[in-house]
Amino acid sequence: AQGASPRIEGCERFLSVGKGRGIKATTHFKVGDLVFACPAYSYVLTVNERGCHCEFCFTRKDALSKCGKCKQAYYCNVECQKGDWPMHKLECSAMCSYGENWCPSETVRLVARIILKQKFQTEKTQSERLLSLKEFEAHLDKTDNEKNEMNLADTAALRHFYSQHLDIPNNDALVQLFAQVNCNGFTIEDEELSHLGSAVFPDVALMNHSCSPNVIVTYKNTVAEVRAVREISPGEELFNSYIDLLYPTEDRNERLRDSYFFTCDCEECTTKSKDKAKMEIRQNLCTVPEPEEIQEMVRYAKNIIEEFRRAKHYKNILPCSFILVGICELSLEKMGSIFEETNVYMLHMMYQAMGVCLYMQDWEEAIKYGEKLVKPYSVHYPPYSLNVASMYLKLGRLYLGLQKKPQGVKTLKKAIAIMNVAFGQDHHYITEIKKEMEEQE
Ligand SMILES: [Zn+2]
Ligand SMILES: [Zn+2]
Ligand SMILES: [Zn+2]
Repeated sequence: AQGASPRIEGCERFLSVGKGRGIKATTHFKVGDLVFACPAYSYVLTVNERGCHCEFCFTRKDALSKCGKCKQAYYCNVECQKGDWPMHKLECSAMCSYGENWCPSETVRLVARIILKQKFQTEKTQSERLLSLKEFEAHLDKTDNEKNEMNLADTAALRHFYSQHLDIPNNDALVQLFAQVNCNGFTIEDEELSHLGSAVFPDVALMNHSCSPNVIVTYKNTVAEVRAVREISPGEELFNSYIDLLYPTEDRNERLRDSYFFTCDCEECTTKSKDKAKMEIRQNLCTVPEPEEIQEMVRYAKNIIEEFRRAKHYKNILPCSFILVGICELSLEKMGSIFEETNVYMLHMMYQAMGVCLYMQDWEEAIKYGEKLVKPYSVHYPPYSLNVASMYLKLGRLYLGLQKKPQGVKTLKKAIAIMNVAFGQDHHYITEIKKEMEEQE
């Protein structure tokens, strides 16, 4: 017989009408309360952050010591190095022997670690109190050709780079595991939303999606923390957001269907209350644009967004920074003939341009974009958004760097106000920002 629903303090697993399983609160949560925390079942530091973060505990600091063998992995101390060895062993000698040809994707690296963990971890982990990794949905019946090809490439890469140190499961099991990780995996980001790595947090993956979420997920090193961003009453379902909420309803649902195989029916998707402001058309035009003209421009915007996404996904685009800024500026000029500056497609291109300016260390130019972004961001995103907080944070740090102290402090305080709720007041990110503000005095 079926036992009672799995529960932890404050929440329990249940069957959500029309959504399958989910999590509901069993107690009251105020805004900013920690609902639950979940250590990563498996995780991997992204290649680009090597040397900046400890591979084992994800601590960010300058003086890390590197693995003497591969000279690629960095650690706080011997304890972290020892702790990481069972996982690092999968890659250490392979990186030496393949040299520059060692190039598994981050998903492949994560899946290799999951396979190894499943070998020696036979009992349920602290990451699976509500949902076990074995129970992850794979949605294999819904994958298209593009996804199948990616999956094939991933399984081939796993066999190529990891077979020496890993008993690789049969092909069906492997395809299943990749699909499970693709729809249940998380990316870990820092306070400025820079990508740090990939991980699986089974209990967190149990939550369903909403475009006006009542909880938010942040990371303390390799632990995911779920906090309330709205008042939550006992019996209420917990919803986090799986996607970037900047975009209008149609775009959000395209993304949800493509990556997670469902269409959202949350209040925002039903009322579409923010769509008009998100797709704002310029008011002062001599001739009002025809609907077809607007449609054409939206198509143009979506195409260029998709092209940027693919370029970033497949290769290192940063060497061509100047060209990229040029493309951003051209597309902004074109879209600006119809779209208001607060239109999300305009904001998307400005965000891209800002990223490239930051990379090129063109601080003044980055500030200009940031200033245009931050206000519309706080209108389009829901309250306590990490996207808004990180924008205040980037902007505030830029001001401080350029000796604009009063503006810097004022802007950083706005970031902290959001972060107090999203990250919790004692998070080391907040301590660090406060220190940066004081050092300016
Ligand atoms: Zn460490
Ligand atoms: Zn090594
Ligand atoms: Zn929705």
